[in-house]
Amino acid sequence: MAYFDDTKTAFELKSNKDLKKAHFLFKLLGSPALTNFGTFFFKIPFATEIPFVKSAVRNTIYKQFVGGETTDDCLVVAKNLYKSGVSSIMDYSVEGQTTDEEFDHVKDEILKLIQISKQNPNEIPCVVFKPTGFGRIDIYEKVGHNMPMADHEKESWENIKKRYLEVCQNAFDNGVPIMADAEDSWMQDAADDLMDEMMQKFNKERCIVWSTLQMYRHDRLEYLKKIYEQAERENYLIGFKIVRGAYMEKERERAKEMGYKDPIQPNKQATDRDFNAAMEFMIERIGRISLFAGSHNEYSCELLTKLMEKNNIEKGDYRVWFGQLYGMSDNISFILGSKGYKVAKYLPYGPIKKVMPYLVRRAQENTSVAGQTGRELSLIQKEIKRRKQK
Ligand SMILES: Cc1cc2nc3c(=O)[nH]c(=O)nc-3n(C[C@H](O)[C@H](O)[C@H](O)COP(=O)(O)OP(=O)(O)OC[C@H]3O[C@@H](n4cnc5c(N)ncnc54)[C@H](O)[C@@H]3O)c2cc1C
Repeated sequence: MAYFDDTKTAFELKSNKDLKKAHFLFKLLGSPALTNFGTFFFKIPFATEIPFVKSAVRNTIYKQFVGGETTDDCLVVAKNLYKSGVSSIMDYSVEGQTTDEEFDHVKDEILKLIQISKQNPNEIPCVVFKPTGFGRIDIYEKVGHNMPMADHEKESWENIKKRYLEVCQNAFDNGVPIMADAEDSWMQDAADDLMDEMMQKFNKERCIVWSTLQMYRHDRLEYLKKIYEQAERENYLIGFKIVRGAYMEKERERAKEMGYKDPIQPNKQATDRDFNAAMEFMIERIGRISLFAGSHNEYSCELLTKLMEKNNIEKGDYRVWFGQLYGMSDNISFILGSKGYKVAKYLPYGPIKKVMPYLVRRAQENTSVAGQTGRELSLIQKEIKRRKQK
């Protein structure tokens, strides 16, 4: 049996009814026409306010991919997942903030998550935030590209820096690891520099601050090596979540429209090559680098288990994590969890209306075009069949 084929372990927490619902949902998502219509429809303001739409979304896609409206809802889910050795990372998935008040609200939410993680270190081993939750994308872009800034923009940047410092200091004081997601390439330079500064400040003895690298960018392996050399020289620890990257179409379109070089790899093979090479580079330098592999790619996840074995790293080593999104690739998460690896699900939360951009991204990723649905569906079908034959 292939490494991630054990559907009994994968769907242990799912009742027959849950499985049927998941089957129905992934069948729907498998239709690009329907997903495209949904993407268009949910951009209409108030679409989710229509009662039957709200209820349909809540019982299908929301239930599959979201932990609930609040952190209390999520904690119930997280405790349940942890019974099978799978941790959770609560992901405040409310997007689209534009004012200082809204950014401060996100910062306060992250401070609250740090306390929840401190009280539940096994279930919630770390806290994550999005750079655009702390400030406007155009401010990051201007700083990263040394563009002229008006006084009020300089002030906005100072506020962003204060928010980073406050959450990282708080995470450090409470001994809770904190991780920044990666977003659009044109804002990432400023966010990366800030996170690097935070790592230098707070990662002297333990890896508290983690950043993210999107390996669909052709320059990230080089960047990883550069930061590693710097960390060696300056003697601090570095932690990276590596992912392939979620915004490929948008990146390619913008580069074409604005006439600059496409920041994305020429093809999927090149992304896969750099993702796997980054894992190898990090595992071979585990004394200095901690790794969180955020991926639903079975080959990469299995490769990481082999790299750990080759480098004599124990399965439960706190410096190596596997991560999948809630509602996807349960076979990977639960099989790794059952074998004793450190594995965590990103568990988004927030009101339906506010998490719609997140749900739309999940729906797009799960159309048959992207290939994930086929994988999810065949596993669910296999488990339904296995249960019937019992
Ligand atoms: C726990 C977790 C955290 C995440 N955090 C982030 C984050 O902070 N930022 C972020 O951007 N994404 C994030 N993602 C999403 C991630 O980047 C991927 O979109 C998603 O996981 C699919 O990649 P994969 O490795 O799972 O699987 P695969 O199905 O093997 O890979 C699909 C990916 O390959 C790449 N790809 C596909 N076709 C091409 C092509 N023609 N040329 C070049 N590359 C191609 C794309 O990145 C695509 O998403 C996260 C995912 C997980 C599981």
